[in-house]
Amino acid sequence: EGRPEVPARGRYADRFGGRLVLVTGAGSGIGRATALAFAEAGARVLAVDRDAGAAARTAGEARDRGAAAAWAETADVSDERAMEKLAERVTAEHGVVDVLVNNAGVGLGGPFLDTTAEEWRKVLDVNLWGVIHGCRLFGSRMAERGQGGHIVNVASAAAFQPSRALPAYGTSKAAVLMLSECLRAELAERDIGVTAVCPGFVDTPITSTARFAGADAEEERRLRKRAARLYGLRGYPPEKVAAAILRAVARDEAVVPVTPEARTAYALSRWLPGASRR
Ligand code: ADP
Repeated sequence: EGRPEVPARGRYADRFGGRLVLVTGAGSGIGRATALAFAEAGARVLAVDRDAGAAARTAGEARDRGAAAAWAETADVSDERAMEKLAERVTAEHGVVDVLVNNAGVGLGGPFLDTTAEEWRKVLDVNLWGVIHGCRLFGSRMAERGQGGHIVNVASAAAFQPSRALPAYGTSKAAVLMLSECLRAELAERDIGVTAVCPGFVDTPITSTARFAGADAEEERRLRKRAARLYGLRGYPPEKVAAAILRAVARDEAVVPVTPEARTAYALSRWLPGASRR
């Protein structure tokens, strides 16, 4: 079948060369780094963002980094109709997506009692519904094609690490984590892998002071101090999250906590006394 021949380059060129990879929220942060990492592996990259200029910039960078091809698409992942149109357009023009990375998200900090219903709706619309739309529209096409595929949902350590600073964000990400695990079980027999990637504190605009302005100041200071201690002042680099995403797809991993504190929090959240035979 008609996959373009791609010269081997990069660590995962054999796995992703010529593959069609769609990344949402590709204009910035983890999404941008992920689109570029797939580009370096010779993939055909679809950079989707609600910010048209940012998507176009990432697509341009992806071409420079060795993508077999790269395109920018503008869509708001929370908009069902827009996502349907995107899926139709992409399928007609490029074929079925081999790897979908549902990454687009919005940060929202602040105690529950200070969070408005509108803010809840916004966070759930983008962080949860965006992932649902992506999984439904692209997952169904993968299943129909019958040649496998992979879906990566970018959740967060906030999915299993309770924090008084992140009730809405954490709730949205906990739902994404559960959705991912259910979907993984359902799609296994169709050879479609599903991975939830759960980064801790990553250095992207989403974690900027401005975005967490509504957060409990002490909690934010604590998070920042811990991040500074663990990674230096700049936080965990999005490129390392991107590398974890490619590795997770290549190895078909289920749940991948990415930063050191995310790994600890995940291990503790799964700890069941008496479950170990040692
Ligand atoms: P992070 O990489 O940590 O998730 P960023 O804020 O750096 O955080 O990146 C998020 C990206 O997702 C931005 O480029 C932003 O424009 C995009 N984005 C946010 N909401 C949506 C949405 N509803 N639809 C599409 N893209 C979105």
